[in-house]
Formats: sequence, C-alpha cells, structure tokens
Amino acid sequence: MLSLVWFKRDLRVVDHPALAAAAERGAVIPLYIVEPDLWAQPDASGRQWAFVAECLTDLRRELVALGQPLLIRTGEAVEVLARLKALTGFVRIVSHQETGNDWTFARDRHVAQWARAHGVEWVELPQSGVARGARDRDGWAARRNAFMAGPLARLPALEPVIEASGGVPSARALNLADDRCGFRQIGGRAQALDLMESFLAQRGQNYRTAMSSPLSAERACSRLSPYLAHGVLSPREVVHATAAARHHRRGACGWSASLGSFESRLAWRDHFIQKLEDEPTLEYRTLHPAMNDLRPRQPDRALLAAWERGETGLPFVDACMRYLRATGWLNFRMRAMLVSVAAYQLWLDWRAFGPVLARLFTDYEPGIHWSQVQMQSGTTGINAIRMYNPVKQGLDQDPDGNFVRSWVPELALVPDAFVHEPWRWPDARRVLGKRYPEPVVDPAAAAREARARIAAQRGVAGFADQAARIAQRHASRKGRGRPGSRDRRPADRAQLSLDL
Ligand SMILES: Cc1cc2nc3c(=O)[nH]c(=O)nc-3n(C[C@H](O)[C@H](O)[C@H](O)COP(=O)(O)OP(=O)(O)OC[C@H]3O[C@@H](n4cnc5c(N)ncnc54)[C@H](O)[C@@H]3O)c2cc1C
Repeated sequence: MLSLVWFKRDLRVVDHPALAAAAERGAVIPLYIVEPDLWAQPDASGRQWAFVAECLTDLRRELVALGQPLLIRTGEAVEVLARLKALTGFVRIVSHQETGNDWTFARDRHVAQWARAHGVEWVELPQSGVARGARDRDGWAARRNAFMAGPLARLPALEPVIEASGGVPSARALNLADDRCGFRQIGGRAQALDLMESFLAQRGQNYRTAMSSPLSAERACSRLSPYLAHGVLSPREVVHATAAARHHRRGACGWSASLGSFESRLAWRDHFIQKLEDEPTLEYRTLHPAMNDLRPRQPDRALLAAWERGETGLPFVDACMRYLRATGWLNFRMRAMLVSVAAYQLWLDWRAFGPVLARLFTDYEPGIHWSQVQMQSGTTGINAIRMYNPVKQGLDQDPDGNFVRSWVPELALVPDAFVHEPWRWPDARRVLGKRYPEPVVDPAAAAREARARIAAQRGVAGFADQAARIAQRHASRKGRGRPGSRDRRPADRAQLSLDL
C-alpha cells in the first residue's frame, strides 16, 4: 500500500510516529508542501522561513540515508496532493495532527474533504501530549506523561519509490521581506542535538535561577524552542534525554531543581498547545468577551511603530525589542514584559501587536503564543493581572545596565545610575529628543491609568459571572473546537505546576 507522509511541523526522521506507521504498511513517499498562502499570513516571516528551509535541507539528507528522498512541492495543498495522486496513485496520507493557526485549520478541512471525495484515507497521529477529541481534561497529565514515557517511534528503512525533486524556494520567491535577523538560530538536526547536549551536560545547571535575566538566559536556557516548534526534535526525545540527564546528575549541585523546571516547561508546552487545539478562536477572539473592545481595535500607529522598532524611549523595553529583532529569540520574562508594556502602558490591542511578535519569533508556536499574548494582556478574565514595570524589570534583571548599553548605544553618555530612567538624569537634554527619544508615555502614570481601566472593566455587572462561565467552559467544553476536540478543565494544572 503506497502511503504519502506529509511533513508539516515535524521536520525530522527520529521519533516520527507518522513515518514509522506509514513505512510499516509498505512504500512511502515523503512530501513537504511549501504553501505560499501560509507564508503570506500575518504571523509568518522571512526568519521563520529561512529556519525551515535549513531544516528541509537537513531532512532531505536524512531521508536519502533511509532510502527514499524527500519530495518538495510548492503550491496549494489540495492541488499538490491531487497531482501527486494522479502521478503515483497513493491511497493513504499519514501526517501528524497539527495545532496551527486558523489558516492551517481551514486548509486541513479542505484536505480532509478532498481526501474523502477521492477515496484517500488520511491518518493523523499525535506527536506530543496534545490530544485531539478527548472528552474532557480529566487525566490529561497522566495521559501526556504516559505518551512521553513511551518508546520512541522506530526509524524505518524506506524502499525507493520516486525520484526526489523540487527545490526549496527562497524567501524572496515567497514574497517574504528580508527581516535582517543577523543572529538567528540556524535550522537543522545537528544544531538541535548540539544544543540539547550542551544544555543537559553544562549550560542547564543554573537554568532555574538564570532564566529571568536576558544577560544570563541566552546561555542558561535550552534554546531548543525553534527546533521544537518546527519539529526538528520530538518533544518525547527531549523528555527522554532530560530524564537520562536527571539520573546521571542525581545529587549534583543545582541540577535537580533546574531539570525539574525544564521538565515543567516541556509540560506547559503541551498544556498551552492543547488550549488552542481545543479553542482555536483564541487566536483572534478575547477569551472574556467583556475584554473584546477594551482597547481600540485601530491601534495608535505611532505607539505601535515605536514599540515595534525599539524606540519607545523606555531603555529596557527598547533593548529587549532590538535584541529580539536581531536574534529571533527572547527569554520568557522579557517576552511577557514586551506584551505587558504594549497592552497596558501603551494600551494597544493584542491583535495589533501579537502578529508583530509572532513574526519576530523564529520559534513561533501558535498554541503557546496566543495563549500567552492573551494572558499577559489581561483579556482571559480568569488569570490574575500581571503588569510589568519596565524600569523595575531593568533594575532587577540588568542592574549594571550592560544589556541596555549593548542594545541602545544612544545612551552611552548617560551615567549608570540613570541608564534605566534617563529622563531623571539632570543632563537628560543632552540625549533625549536628540540621539534617543523621550519616553512615549510616562510609564508610572500609564500603568496607573491601565490599572484603573482594567479594574473598571472587571467590575462591570456580569463580568464575574461570565468569568465563572469561562472557567466552567474550560471544565466541560461546549464551544467549537477542532474536529472532534473538546476543551479541558484546568484540573491537571497542579500536576504540571503551572505558574499562571
Ligand atoms: C508573549 C509570549 C509569547 C510566547 N511565544 C512563544 C512561541 O511562539 N513559541 C514558543 O516556543 N514559546 C513561546 N513563549 C514561551 C517562552 O518564552 C519560550 O518557549 C522560551 O523563551 C523559549 O526559549 P527556550 O527554548 O530556551 O526555553 P526553555 O526555558 O529552555 O524551555 C524549554 C521549552 O519549553 C517550552 N516552554 C518554555 N516556556 C514555556 C511557557 N511559558 N509556555 C509554554 N511552553 C514553554 C518551549 O518549547 C521551550 O523550548 C512565549 C512566551 C510569551 C510570554
């Protein structure tokens, strides 16, 4: 039986349940479809494509070694599949379940319709702890942990069926702007394995304490996110490698707490992707309806542009944004701060700045991203409001101002004591409004105003009842989900030690 294995966000051959399952039943054609419409979406960017293109080159090599090279086709998925069906007569598509954005959700429905109409079986398998179609969230963590503890899918030998063909298009051919991400992480399996090994053998020792400051996080965090997001590593192989490292480093200073924190985050990954799997509207609709029109849907363009360019006049915010623009990565706390400042101090709607951040992340993962953007913007109605003070964050995470000085060289003249608040320096006029902008808002006054607006909104009649209903909906899902899927109640949060 000839099967087509459709590679999506799973660009590897190791622990690839779809490839293993298809090969068990006969010959396999491995396919990657470059979909120009996907890359034209507002959350897609040139840096993400550059990373994927590098991973595809690697995947091609790996599949050649297994016996059947990768086919790469550019076009609309249904058209590509129809042409290949006419050419090869495949009868089955095997892929992993994809919890992507609204566009991939709609595309999958078209593909499912086409497959049904043409007598093609489409088998979609899980590749992580994210479950499709379970009735409720009871026992979710146990099932997720059991999946992770299971054996890796075996590496198949493939019989040659078809000649490899199709090139990897350039970013320009996909109309993607060159976004000059000079320090971007490089795609590919060797890079992923090197990072995992160095993290579990050395870099991760102080992970727990060093993850918060952008100065130490760059080295102390695993940096595996783009490799997990594009499936170069399977989440399960990372969990297995971490368990082995934990065993090996039993009793060694710092390791137990750090590896425990890391394991929690790997579980959060599944938890948040599960949320989008269950409630796809999270990408474009506020979880709490009362928060929908809280901020103007047409954002203040000047404020948004200042934030996006790293020119708000708030040094630590600008340094983090410029670092992200240059590297495609930022640590968790600073991502949360960028969102918090955009949503509260600048009072911008999350739907205006969320896609900007998504494009800047090489590791963009819709399930994590949209859940976090809504949580950090205070629109879920069921999470505590967390408003970051950018000056305090700068003083806490970059006390000597080294990070700010590296990324905001315009502040070279400003003495250390004022580097996080240059407007308080008596000689501020020498720099502000000349080399570096005045702050676009007074951060303390803007935070006070935002707090009052949020409190007023949370106090409106019916807000609490609606929040209770949302919590209830999460307990027993009734809304639209992906085909066959249900939302889950957060009963398993404790087991995942979520910091919400
Ligand atoms: C507003 C906002 C948007 C975010 N968008 C993304 C995104 O698009 N893609 C993405 O991978 N992460 C996202 N994160 C989560 C987190 O910031 C990154 O996963 C992390 O910084 C990646 O670096 P790392 O691989 O070194 O992580 P590590 O700290 O080494 O963690 C290991 C892995 O665990 C997962 N992980 C870590 N933190 C979280 C978390 N809080 N929630 C869920 N999973 C987590 C990631 O897969 C990560 O690679 C976002 C966070 C915020 C606040």
